[in-house]
Amino acid sequence: MNLSMNQENPMPLPRRAIGLDVGGTKIVGGIVTPAGEVIERLPPVSTPPGDQSAVVEALRMLTDDLRAKQPDVSAIGVGAAGLIDWPRGHIRWAPNNAYQRLPLRELLEELTDLPTVVDNDANVATWGEMRSGNQSQHMAFLTVGTGVGGGLVLGGELYRGKTGIAAEVGHLIVDPRGGQLCGCGNVGCLEAVASGTALGRYGQEAAAQEPDGTLARLAGGPALVTGHVVHAAARSGDVTAQRLFERVGYWLGVGIASLVNLFDFELIVIGGGLVAADDLLLEPARAAFEQFVFAREHRELPPIVPARLGADAGWIGAGMLALDLAATTHSDDRLPSPVPAQGLVH
Ligand SMILES: [Zn+2]
Repeated sequence: MNLSMNQENPMPLPRRAIGLDVGGTKIVGGIVTPAGEVIERLPPVSTPPGDQSAVVEALRMLTDDLRAKQPDVSAIGVGAAGLIDWPRGHIRWAPNNAYQRLPLRELLEELTDLPTVVDNDANVATWGEMRSGNQSQHMAFLTVGTGVGGGLVLGGELYRGKTGIAAEVGHLIVDPRGGQLCGCGNVGCLEAVASGTALGRYGQEAAAQEPDGTLARLAGGPALVTGHVVHAAARSGDVTAQRLFERVGYWLGVGIASLVNLFDFELIVIGGGLVAADDLLLEPARAAFEQFVFAREHRELPPIVPARLGADAGWIGAGMLALDLAATTHSDDRLPSPVPAQGLVH
C-alpha cells in the first residue's frame, strides 16, 4: 500500500485521536497519540440524565471543543458503560444510563465526519492498560469499584465474543449459595461479593454488630457505612475493617483463579476505585488466587498488579484503540465494517 498522500489514498496516517469515556455519572475525555501520550484533557462533565439524545449532543460538543484545540485529530474512540455490539458500536442497554438501542458510532460519525469506534468502557480501559505499560499479550484487567468490570486480552487482542458483550467478569458466578444479590438480578456474582458496593454492605453489617466500633463512629451510624469508610477505618488500623477487605480480596482471588484456569494468563491487572487500597485488597486476593488456582505447584503464577493509568485508562484506551484500528484499516476512511450482529434482537 502506498502511504503517501495521493488521490487513491488521501488520508494521512492518523496520529491523534479523541478518546471519550461515558460513565453513569460523568463523561471524561481528551486527545492522545498512538503511544498514549495525552495532548489535551477536558474537565469532566456530568452525563446528562434521561434523554439519550442529550448524551449524543454532549459528546458532539466535547468533540467540537477538542477539535478546536487540535484540528488534526483523525479518529474518535468512545468507551461507554453497557452492552455494546462490536464493531457496530450499537449500545443495546446500559444499567446506569437511560440509553437503549443507541447507534452511537453511526450517530457520531454522521455528526463529526470522523471515523469512530465505540466499545465497552472496560474493554477500552483494558486496551489502555495493555498498550501503556502493562504490556502483556495474555492478560485480564479487572476494575473493582462500584461494580466489577473487566476485559480479556487473548493473544494480543481484546476478546469480545460473538457480538461484543463477552468478558463480563463481574458476573462470574462465584458464590451462588451465599445469598448476595447482584445488580443484574442474579445471586453470587463476583460483583455482588467483591466490589466497593459489597464492601460497604459488609461494613454496614459489621457496624450493626459493633455500634460503638470505628466503622459506625466514622460513618455516623451503621447504616451510613460505605466502602470509603471501610477503607479509612482499615487504614487507621481497625481490625474489623481489615477483615472486610480480606473478605472482598478473597472473593476477588477466587474469581481470578477461575479466569487463570480458563485462559492461562501471564498478568492480572486490577484497576477501579478499590485498588487505591492496594495491598489491603491485593494481598488477600493473591492468597485466595494461589489457594484455588489449578496446578499451582506446576505453573508460573501470573502477578496480580495494580493498574497504571487509574481513572484515565478508559478514555486514553478508547483513543488508542481508534488509532490502532485506523492504522490497520486500509479501506476507505471508516473503521471496521459494521457487520450486523447475528442472532440478536435489536
Ligand atoms: Zn451479576
